[in-house]
Amino acid sequence: MAMSDKLPPTEDERCGTTAGNAAHRRRGERPCEPCRVAKNVRQGDYYQKNRAARLEYASNYADANRDKISEYRRTYHAANRDEVNARNREHRSENRDVVREQERARYAAGGESELERRREYYIANRLVILARNRAWIKSNSDWALAYGRKYRDKNRDVIAERNRNYAAENQESLTESHRNYRAENLGAIGERERERRSRIAEAFAPVAVHSGMPWTAEDDAIVRATYGLSPVIVSAQLRRTPHGIVTHRSELRKLDRNQRRATQ
Ligand SMILES: [Zn+2]
Repeated sequence: MAMSDKLPPTEDERCGTTAGNAAHRRRGERPCEPCRVAKNVRQGDYYQKNRAARLEYASNYADANRDKISEYRRTYHAANRDEVNARNREHRSENRDVVREQERARYAAGGESELERRREYYIANRLVILARNRAWIKSNSDWALAYGRKYRDKNRDVIAERNRNYAAENQESLTESHRNYRAENLGAIGERERERRSRIAEAFAPVAVHSGMPWTAEDDAIVRATYGLSPVIVSAQLRRTPHGIVTHRSELRKLDRNQRRATQ
């Protein structure tokens, strides 16, 4: 019965005590103000006196009904996802330090089992977690880029050290995986390489020209000394086209090879 459905209170000599309040209730009435106050005071006393017992009861109940409670939580959370998440977010942002401290304490108290629990959770939900992280990073890409840059600047030495160690410890598998990658992506790599060269060639285009000039002995010496360099760079130095350098390189190589054979 709602409060408003109840009869108005009639006063009697017990009013202002819990007995008066009980009498109102038996008569189907709302309590009068003094009876209401008396009841609240008694309940407050009771509440305070039994605090320890109540806490113990709650903790026993939680222990005995762990599965039921987490099942209930799961159901509730699933049915009220948005609301719960919003409330949690709000609580977190308003109590950031407290929440962090609580998490640290829980983590420390849980120790190995907490670690194990997280590992299991990660393994069971790996794809979902990765997808969620990717989506988050994508929608916060400016922040993520800035964060990554800041992290790398701050930890340059640590990262370099870690990479070195990793490379040293995984030399064989790295070589193997590079080999596989190249084998599987020959077309893409070639395409990328061609693109890179044409971008460089474009950048150097103004200084590299079809000169029509014959190759001098000095030109030849420079070309022979720079086989390891990009033809574009050499072409800029000699003011010739990259294609001209490539062609002349192979001509010189053939010439030198024949010379070596002839003298052997
Ligand atoms: Zn009363």
